[in-house]
Amino acid sequence: MLIYTKIADLRAFLKEKKSLNHTVGFVPTMGALHNGHISLIEASKKACNVTICSVFVNPTQFNDKTDLERYPRMPEKDARFLELANCDVLFLPSVDEIYPKKDETIFDFGFLDKTLDGKHRPGHFNGVAQVVKRLFEIVGPDKAFFGEKDYQQVMIIKALVKQMGSSIEIVSCPILREADGLAMSSRNTLLTSEEREIASRIPKLMLDAKKIVKEKSISAAKLFIEEETKKVSIMKLDYFEICDAETLEEISEINSQKKAIALIALFVGKIRLIDNLLIS
Ligand code: AMP
Repeated sequence: MLIYTKIADLRAFLKEKKSLNHTVGFVPTMGALHNGHISLIEASKKACNVTICSVFVNPTQFNDKTDLERYPRMPEKDARFLELANCDVLFLPSVDEIYPKKDETIFDFGFLDKTLDGKHRPGHFNGVAQVVKRLFEIVGPDKAFFGEKDYQQVMIIKALVKQMGSSIEIVSCPILREADGLAMSSRNTLLTSEEREIASRIPKLMLDAKKIVKEKSISAAKLFIEEETKKVSIMKLDYFEICDAETLEEISEINSQKKAIALIALFVGKIRLIDNLLIS
C-alpha cells in the first residue's frame, strides 16, 4: 500500500492511473479504523480499480474543542489495518495540507443541515462539507463510499455533489455492528468498560422503539426512549426522532407510502454516540 501525505504526490499517482482509464473509489475517514470502515474499502475495491482511503481528523467539523482533542488518533495501526484490507493508497495529510488558509465557505443545505445533528452540533455539517469538497477536489474519484451509520451525513454529501455539479457517485453502505449490536464507531474505543456495557443497550432500545411504533404510536416510542435513557444516570439523550427517510422531516404517524427512520444521538458518559434504524 502506498502512503501519501502530500497532495502533489497523490495527484501524480492519480494522474497516471486515470491516464490508464482506471476508476477511482474513495473512502474518506477520520481514522481509528474498525471493520465498519473496512466494509467501505471492500465495497470500493469491488466497484473500482483503485481504492484511496483518507485519514484526516477534520478540525472544522468539531463544534466542541475537547471532543476534537479527545478524538482517537492511531495512524500506524490504521495503516496496518488498511494494508491487510488490500487498500491501494492511504492519504494521510496534515491540517496545513488540507487548509493552507482558513476555509470560510458557508454551505446552505436548507432544512437538511438544520435538523437532528445539524441542530445539535451547530456548524458540524458545514465543516463536513468543507473537508469533503476539498478531498473530492484533490482525489477526483468516480465513486465515494459513505456509511449509513451517519445517515444524515450521506444526505448532506449527496446534496453537496449536486451543488458542486459533480458527477461523483455517492454509494451508501450498511451499518456494521459489534456482536452485541452496538454500531461500530471510532468513539467506542473511548468508552470505559462500564460505559461500553451501557452502550450495548442502544440497539435493543432502538428495536424496542420500532416495535412500539408498530404496535402503538410514534409518540409512545419517543416517550419510551426518553424514560429508558433517564433511568441510566450516565446516559443523556440528545435526540430521538422518527423521520421521513427521504427528507428527514419529523413524522407523527407511519404512512405505508413512505419509508420512516428512527435516529438517536445520546451521551454515554462524555462520549456522544449515534445510531439509526429503518422503521418501515
Ligand atoms: P468516520 O471515520 O467516523 O468519519 O467515518 C468514516 C466513514 O465510515 C463514514 O462514511 C462513516 O459513516 C463510515 N462508518 C463509520 N462507522 C460505520 C459503521 N459502523 N458501519 C458502516 N460504516 C461506518
